[in-house]
Amino acid sequence: MDTDVIVIGAGLAGLQCARHLEREGRRVIVLEASDAVGGRIRTDTVEGFQVDRGFQVLNPAYPALKDGIDVDALDLQSFGVGVVVRDGDTTDTLAHPLRHPEHLLSTLRSRHTPPADLIALARWIGPTLLRTKRPARTATDETLRTSLDAAGFTGRLRRDVLDTFLAGVLSDSTGGNSARYVRQLVRYFALGAPGLPSAGMRALPEQLAGTLSEPVRLGAAARQVRETPDGVEVATDDGVLRARAVVVAVGPQDVAGLVDVAVPATHALTTWWFRAPSRPAGGRFLTIDASRAGGGPAGPIWNTAVISDVAPTYAPAGEHLVQATTLLDRPDGLANESEIRRDLERLYRTSTRDWDVLAHHVVPHTLPSQPPPLTDRGPAWVGERTTVAGDHRESGSIQGALVSGARAAGAVLSRLG
Ligand SMILES: Cc1cc2nc3c(=O)[nH]c(=O)nc-3n(C[C@H](O)[C@H](O)[C@H](O)COP(=O)(O)OP(=O)(O)OC[C@H]3O[C@@H](n4cnc5c(N)ncnc54)[C@H](O)[C@@H]3O)c2cc1C
Repeated sequence: MDTDVIVIGAGLAGLQCARHLEREGRRVIVLEASDAVGGRIRTDTVEGFQVDRGFQVLNPAYPALKDGIDVDALDLQSFGVGVVVRDGDTTDTLAHPLRHPEHLLSTLRSRHTPPADLIALARWIGPTLLRTKRPARTATDETLRTSLDAAGFTGRLRRDVLDTFLAGVLSDSTGGNSARYVRQLVRYFALGAPGLPSAGMRALPEQLAGTLSEPVRLGAAARQVRETPDGVEVATDDGVLRARAVVVAVGPQDVAGLVDVAVPATHALTTWWFRAPSRPAGGRFLTIDASRAGGGPAGPIWNTAVISDVAPTYAPAGEHLVQATTLLDRPDGLANESEIRRDLERLYRTSTRDWDVLAHHVVPHTLPSQPPPLTDRGPAWVGERTTVAGDHRESGSIQGALVSGARAAGAVLSRLG
């Protein structure tokens, strides 16, 4: 045997799995096809800016971060907990009343927060916010859309704000995800202030990878997984590796290429990153657009933020970084640069003539689709010695990926004895 366990994929799930296995004294080889760890969490340095490959944030309220992650070392730069809503010519800041009491009056007075909607919101999320322990994931679940309707949550706060905000978070504008999954994410938003590590989102997987005693093997794609009577064989371009067990942690789009499981559907988005020489009117909140009659954005952008206002380490001194996200389940998801600029000019009420595009990321697989019911699926054994990990096995999020990796490690440890 070359090692005890081979972990295929150095995203969060694979890294967390390897860390748990090593902690229990197992020898682990982590194979990663690409040139860096992190999977869907990557950051590039572009002309002095830190540019994440697709806008995403880290929520420090995720319980899985307590499992071995040094959040303080990530030096999170936090977003405001709330949103700026652009609606035609008006701009409202709606914010968490306890975290941003200075915005309480403007939040309550906004035409986007009619009292009936605030009551319906409380009806929809209240029980999830107040519970003290994680409920059993029974089969009783419904789509987000149905659950909001059932709570009588049908007014402007939903139409203009929640639907648009959640569509950006989930990369899904259909409302078809599991209500249980979305309520859980909203609970984390209420409990934590999401932010960006000072060294970029990549700092999270890099921290995990740095705890491993054997470095992740980069540029080492697994081509085939085969069980033998006493172990597993993993074929790579450099030969065959043998181990007692294998964990396939490759992400939803790649898993079916290695093991016989159904391919999970995924959602998709694009993020445009702009350099702005002068500071746009931004602030620490995410901006969403509610200018279309009937709710939702009037243009292709579902959310935007002046990232350097939130995370000054993302831009060189005196320069500004703006992200704009579009959704690929919308007809205008692949809007071109001039359409995006036009939309940004409307949203920031400024010319973008002297803004430069730093990057445009088209991310075809952001999150696995999470239709109801969201249930506990347990360890995903696809053979005697082959198990599957990843956010698609638990829930689409950083939290889900970390939990899945830890669970897969536990399952392997008990099977190996
Ligand atoms: C644009 C975007 C925005 C997001 N926003 C958020 C957010 O705000 N909050 C949040 O909680 N989550 C967010 N997510 C989701 C979160 O990033 C993922 O849930 C999580 O990173 C998934 O980790 P994973 O380990 O399950 O899979 P992945 O990160 O996909 O890792 C799989 C790894 O396997 C490797 N691999 C594939 N095939 C092979 C092979 N044959 N051999 C070797 N290696 C292989 C891949 O290269 C990859 O490194 C976002 C994701 C994206 C892309």
